[in-house]
Amino acid sequence: MISVTEAQKIVLNHAESLPPEKCALTPSVLGRILAEDIASDIDMPPYDKSMMDGYAVRSEDLPDGRGGLTIIEEITAGNTPKLALGQGQAARIMTGAPIPSGCDAVVVIERTQSADGNRVQINDSLVKAGQNILFRGREMRRGEIVLSAGTTLRPQELGTLATVGRTSVSLFPRPRVAVLPTGDEIVEGSEIPGPGQIRNGNGPMLMAQVARAGGVPRFLGIARDTEESLRSHITDGLQDPLLILSGGVSAGKLDLVPAVLRSFNVEGHFHKVSMKPGKPIFFGTRNGQLIFGLPGNPVSSLVCFELFVRPAIRRLMGQPVPGPQIVSASLAEDFRYKTDRPTYHPAWLEANKAAWRVRAVPWFGSPDLRGVADSNAFVLFPEGDHHHRAGQVLPVLVVESCLAL
Ligand code: AMP
Ligand code: MG
Repeated sequence: MISVTEAQKIVLNHAESLPPEKCALTPSVLGRILAEDIASDIDMPPYDKSMMDGYAVRSEDLPDGRGGLTIIEEITAGNTPKLALGQGQAARIMTGAPIPSGCDAVVVIERTQSADGNRVQINDSLVKAGQNILFRGREMRRGEIVLSAGTTLRPQELGTLATVGRTSVSLFPRPRVAVLPTGDEIVEGSEIPGPGQIRNGNGPMLMAQVARAGGVPRFLGIARDTEESLRSHITDGLQDPLLILSGGVSAGKLDLVPAVLRSFNVEGHFHKVSMKPGKPIFFGTRNGQLIFGLPGNPVSSLVCFELFVRPAIRRLMGQPVPGPQIVSASLAEDFRYKTDRPTYHPAWLEANKAAWRVRAVPWFGSPDLRGVADSNAFVLFPEGDHHHRAGQVLPVLVVESCLAL
């Protein structure tokens, strides 16, 4: 049986970024990834400008930081200076306004006194050449690459793009992801389950995980455990670049998913990974499409999604480093755990002074989604019978976006 790391490599080897598209820059592009390098079309700032409200001066007129000067004009942001500063002269200047020629320093208003409209008394301790001036091109130069392909768009990137005059850019698309729960016993959440039936928890959960990863989920309905039902739903699902099935991949009599997928010429790359929960996971491809058969137990589906499907979605949407995110954390308290495979156990992860701390939460195994509600991460326990001591450092799978590092 292959390891989680080997399986993740296989998935990423088959996942390629989708063709980029030109997009207008609205808040809906947040989280999407740039498919082109962005060069600035201007120097920024475009002119030497004042960083403070105060007086534009010549430092040589104020050797000990003090002196009286004649005010020759007032320069507000959006205007340009009309006069050059001569000896003994100053200009009232506002934040963001271009400094006049001859000026080499700005004194903040708080360190000045203006007796009448024409004269100002400077009371600074020292006036250094360049003080409170942001020189042209300090932030970026025309032609310089300010954002490179592969960058995730956050608010600061949107601001930067607008600054350099880009109102539309080339972005990788959000992949459409088809979600197909399977099982004769599964009924919709709106129904009262009859004898032997359970509600479809996995469908809404997986759709939400797709959305959290940045994909666009599409629900295909529930497939029954028959070849016919599976075939018609899978035909629909294969219209999207990524298809997720839940259930029907284990060794049960009606676990038909892998065989039906093969009948569609889906090439299987692995079926079983050495992990808990989630061992029977299936992964295959067909003409560049990715197909995951996740085990039906809810926590198996959830963990397999985070370990394998999420990185695939992130890669399709252009992310060079698609995760998953693993941090090292020290155990908050002793925990004895016996398992025959590496186990992702629901846990609570928090920052404690200088380090991450993790505590395993009560959980009875792959069907127990309720136990996962009290967790925000999964701590990875090695196989064997171990008494893990408080302070021991273990790998932790981070799944909550609020913990993104
Ligand atoms: P399977 O992988 O099909 O053998 O299913 C394993 C377990 O997961 C069974 O107890 C199923 O009832 C349960 N299960 C399968 N699909 C779902 C679903 N969509 N929502 C909740 N539980 C499910
Ligand atoms: Mg089933």
